[in-house]
Formats: sequence, C-alpha cells, structure tokens
Amino acid sequence: MKMIDFPKQLLINGQFVSGEGNAEPILNPATGELLTTIHEASMDQIKLATSSAATAFTSWKKTTPRDRATMLLKLADAIESNAEAFATLESLNCGKPYLAALNDEIPAVADIFRFFAGAIRNMTGSLAGEYLPGHTSMIRRDPLGVVASIAPWNYPLMMAAWKLGPALAAGNTVVLKPSEMTPLTSLKLAQLIAEIFPAGVVNIITGRGESVGAPMISQPQVQMISITGDISTGQKIMDVAAKSVKRTHLELGGKAPVIVFDDADIQAVVDGVRAFGFYNAGQDCTAACRIYAGKNIYEKLVAELTSAASSIQLGEQHDEGVEMGPLISERQRSRVAGFVDRAAAQKHIEITTGGKARAGRGFFYEPTIIAGALQTDEIVAKEVFGPVVSITRFDDEVEVLGWANESEYGLASSVWTADVGRAMRVSAELQYGCTWINTHFMLVSEMPHGGMKKSGYGKDMSMYAIEDYSAVRHVMVKL
Ligand code: NAD
Repeated sequence: MKMIDFPKQLLINGQFVSGEGNAEPILNPATGELLTTIHEASMDQIKLATSSAATAFTSWKKTTPRDRATMLLKLADAIESNAEAFATLESLNCGKPYLAALNDEIPAVADIFRFFAGAIRNMTGSLAGEYLPGHTSMIRRDPLGVVASIAPWNYPLMMAAWKLGPALAAGNTVVLKPSEMTPLTSLKLAQLIAEIFPAGVVNIITGRGESVGAPMISQPQVQMISITGDISTGQKIMDVAAKSVKRTHLELGGKAPVIVFDDADIQAVVDGVRAFGFYNAGQDCTAACRIYAGKNIYEKLVAELTSAASSIQLGEQHDEGVEMGPLISERQRSRVAGFVDRAAAQKHIEITTGGKARAGRGFFYEPTIIAGALQTDEIVAKEVFGPVVSITRFDDEVEVLGWANESEYGLASSVWTADVGRAMRVSAELQYGCTWINTHFMLVSEMPHGGMKKSGYGKDMSMYAIEDYSAVRHVMVKL
C-alpha cells in the first residue's frame, strides 16, 4: 500500500513548520514497516502554538456563528473531497481496513463538522427574566479561549473532529496534539484547515505525552484541556489542571457490559458482537467485550459466538474481504496477549477460539472468545483494548445488574431482550453514559457520547459538547 506524499509538518500560526524536537518513527501496524518519521514539537514550538492560539482568539471570538459555520461546512466538504487520501493515511497508520476507514469513519468525520456548523447557529443565549425589581437578567454563552486537545490512536481523525468541531463552533481557538503513534491524518487535516481558517485559530503539533502533551496543557494561555485517553493519563491531566484551575473534558476508557437475557434474539446478539466486539480489532472504548449471558442462552451463545468470531477475516488494509486489521503496536499486542494468557491459566476458563498472535508480519492477534469467565476475573474487570470478548453466565436480573455496574468504568452498555419492560427497567439502572437496547456501538452526531465514573465526564458530539466548550455568563441590566 502506497504512502500518500504530503509535507508532514506541524501547523503553527498558519505556517507549516518541521518539528524541532525528537524524531518519532511512524509504523504501518499491518507490516511493522516504517512509513515515515515525524519530528515532534520543541518547547519553543509548543509555546508559539499556544500563544498564537491566544492571539487569534481576540478576533476569532468576535466572528458570528454564521462565519464559523461557513468555515466548518467548507472543512466538511474538503474532507469529503479528500476522503480517499484520508482513508489511505488512516488505514496505513492504524492498520485498519481501508474500506472501514473510507465508508464508516470519514463520512462520520465530515458529519461532525456539519452538525456543529448547524448547531452553533441554533445555540442562543436567553433572556432569563426579572428576578430583582427593575432589573433584567440575560444568559450569554461565550467561548473560553484556548483549548488544548489531546487525541488517542484508535480513531485519530474522528477524535480530532470530536474535539475541533464543538471547540471551534463555540468560538474557541485550539492547539491539537494527536497521538505520537498516529499523527498522519491530523497533519493532512492541517493542510485543509490552513486554507479555510484564519492563522492561529487551529494549531496542530505532534509528539509524545510527556514531552509535548504535558507542557502544552501547562501553558498559561490554555483555558480548557480536552483529552481522550487512558484513565491514568486523565488523572495526570487533572493534576495539572488542578494547579491552574483549568476546565477539563475527559473521555477515558471503557469496559462495556453486554447483557443478554434468555429471550434475546440470539442471531442479533451474535451479529452485533461479531461486528462491534471486534470492530477496529476491539481497540474501542465502547467495544462489546464483556458479555453476560442468561443461564438458558449461555451454551448456545458461546457456541455461536465462537463460530462467528472464528469466521472474522484478518488481513492487511487492502486485502480482499478483510474485516479486521492488526493491533496498533507490538506493545499493545503483548499487553493483550498478557491478559489472555493470564485468563487461560485459570481452570474455569475456556478459550473457545483465538487466544494467540497470528504468525507472520504485522501486529495481528486472533479474534478471541473467553468462555466461563467469572465476575472476579481480571479479564472481566479490566479494559483489554483488543479483539477479546469474555462471556459470563448469570442467574437473574438482580445479579447481572449488580455485576454490570460493579466496574470502575461507566461509558457504554447494551441490553438484549424481547421484553420492553425489562429493557427499560435495566437501562434505567445501568450506570453508563450510554445504553443501547438490542444493538450496540451506534453513534450519531446529535446524541452525546461520554462517560460516568472513571470513564470521565464531559460529552462529545451533540449540543452538550457545545455547552462543555463554552461558558454560561449572566448579564444584568438595571432598567
Ligand atoms: P493514552 O492515554 O496513552 O494517550 C492518549 C493521548 O494522551 C496521547 O495523545 C498521548 O500522547 C497523550 N498523553 C499521554 N500522557 C500525557 C500527559 N502526561 N500529558 C498530556 N498528554 C498525555 O491513551 P491511548 O493509548 O492513546 O488510547 C487508548 C485509551 O484511550 C484507552 O484507554 C481507551 O479506552 C481510551 N479511549 C477513550 C475513548 C472515549 O471516548 N472515552 C475513546 C477512545 C479511546
């Protein structure tokens, strides 16, 4: 697969510059081969990016919603016009199938920018009324200033869009740092952004968390920090934010429970878990990875999921019929293998399919089903972030609700049943930012995505994201 040739440079104050920091090798996870080398931002470049964003904010905040919507719509159009280039870069850099990037992810990215373009024109302040005789109060919604945004490696372009869309629509300026492993689509996006937005409104700098992310969020001009990443990274960011009292927006990990009652449509469950337990090789914070199956459906579900998972076609980005690519890195693969090996060493556990790395080049790991898992097992409690689905048998509704909620995570969940009353009862009790009923993984720009508990707080997408990226202000007039 051929690398797309473009100047892979940082965007700082409207200028393209080469990073002056350490060199970071960028690999193709499907082959392990070096794609290119990107130099990360130096300390001076980090400072210049945040100060440029602060300078740009003085005029950007005065633009009207219509001005900003026009630019966001242009960006969405430009992304669609470059869909093949983006899909090529994303699939090369992450290892995911090219057609998944092209057909699932790039259209969703364009839609995010279109949604926020329309949403900001509908976001109004309000005349709150008269709460003191002779005084009228108004509520304004104003931008915060410079937002430092940090993205992970699993959906690099989509996570950049989730962060840029609401921040820019609300009138903020942004410094975006993609993951050091997957900067390519963000740097391609920088090219389009530079043609559409005024200098300094969006700055894109690359590099590692410690050397670039940490100093970036510590800059005095930064008013808000938005991160999608690991819980431990979120905790470090909260420490930094606590010292300077910055607003934070945290999208951290997940371990989605998939509750399958005995009356569920088993074919729908099997199709759903095959698709959404293994999409993006399971490297997804909402992956359908923690199945709880009713005692009467359990055996059949294990058998059918085993055969469904073993039929998933692994391959490189452009292989005919490929459904699942490799993991992002050798490190991630050995992390996943560690979880599975520790589970396999327990007597009550049966690995019914997969359970090992695929031989040959690239960081592939076979789709894996772990049957007989118990609530107390590490494989049930911890986020694996790989193509590994565990199945645990439960006796009744009370037991399974307790188990589903007994988790440090609270991002996504699903309930599968033919009984509407039970579906509503259980979804009301689940402590998760999202509950799907008889489906899983479906996201739309109009609806919020975000967690509870250690999965973080703050919403991506929807009007709630604009609220998160703006300040509510009270103005009172003496009549
Ligand atoms: P990570 O936490 O290692 O890195 C995420 C980003 O944070 C990277 O850009 C990294 O460079 C940066 N970073 C790391 N340390 C930093 C620091 N001290 N200061 C500033 N920035 C720092 O996570 P990852 O391995 O890239 O992504 C996988 C994790 O992301 C998983 O735990 C997954 O569940 C989570 N995730 C969550 C969501 C969600 O919506 N909740 C979506 C996707 C991924």
